[in-house]
Amino acid sequence: EEKVKRIDSATDKARAREKDSDRLKVEENVFDVPTLKILYTLSNKGIIKAMGGAISTGKEANVFYAEGDEKELAIKIYRMASSTFKAMDAYIMKDPRFTNIRNNRRDIIFAWTRKELQNLKRSKSAGVRVPEPIVAEKNVLIMEFMGEEKKPYPLLKNTPLEDDEAKLVYNKIVEYMHLLYKEANLVHADLSEYNILIDPADKTPVFIDMGQSVTLEHPNAREFLYRDVLNVLRFFGRYGITDKPEELLSKIQAE
Ligand code: ADP
Ligand code: MN
Repeated sequence: EEKVKRIDSATDKARAREKDSDRLKVEENVFDVPTLKILYTLSNKGIIKAMGGAISTGKEANVFYAEGDEKELAIKIYRMASSTFKAMDAYIMKDPRFTNIRNNRRDIIFAWTRKELQNLKRSKSAGVRVPEPIVAEKNVLIMEFMGEEKKPYPLLKNTPLEDDEAKLVYNKIVEYMHLLYKEANLVHADLSEYNILIDPADKTPVFIDMGQSVTLEHPNAREFLYRDVLNVLRFFGRYGITDKPEELLSKIQAE
């Protein structure tokens, strides 16, 4: 009995150590020396007051909480080591804004980070609710933190909604897709319940994750838009939204 307990606690400790070393590996991966220098410079400039904890570890980037001068910040750091930068090619090389990017990992990742900042700016100017972009420096994007008391707003995916609330959220998403298309000349290109946050106070959606968003001149813009449309309709189908893809498309493309 006692022995079993002891073994249990030993393996628990080993597991904890393993977890720690995993975490260190991740941190080593994201906080390489050049990235640390950027964060150091941004903190010398007073843009970052204090780094906080990790919010998310994604395929290409990590997101951290931080305290800014006045506002809370989200810091998205594209990992130089493990970025699946080949996949970025298709989105960036044919974007007229980024045609003169050299085909190497560093430049593609830096251009990607600048593109996300620009896309957020254009979206915000068009009236779409997105995190306010603050600065992009190499692989580091600093933006407004969308959340409360250090906790990010929940994803649409994890937000329980009544049918009538869902209808309002859907209509707002359609309005934002329309503004993106008509005013910002953009297609989100990865829109789904995973890249929309919900402000719990008024249940308004917030679009995030716009690194891959492309202008309408991009040769695949229509295809990306159609995929966004299908994702949104798939999610809202469960709430009794019965729009056909063509109906939603025509709402987005209406004058
Ligand atoms: P990824 O490319 O890894 O999907 P995202 O931009 O979608 O990166 O961000 C990952 C997660 O980090 C989001 O699901 C969200 O929970 C959180 N997040 C991203 N940006 C912000 C922000 N501005 N404010 C609060 N949380 C954010
Ligand atoms: Mn995402």
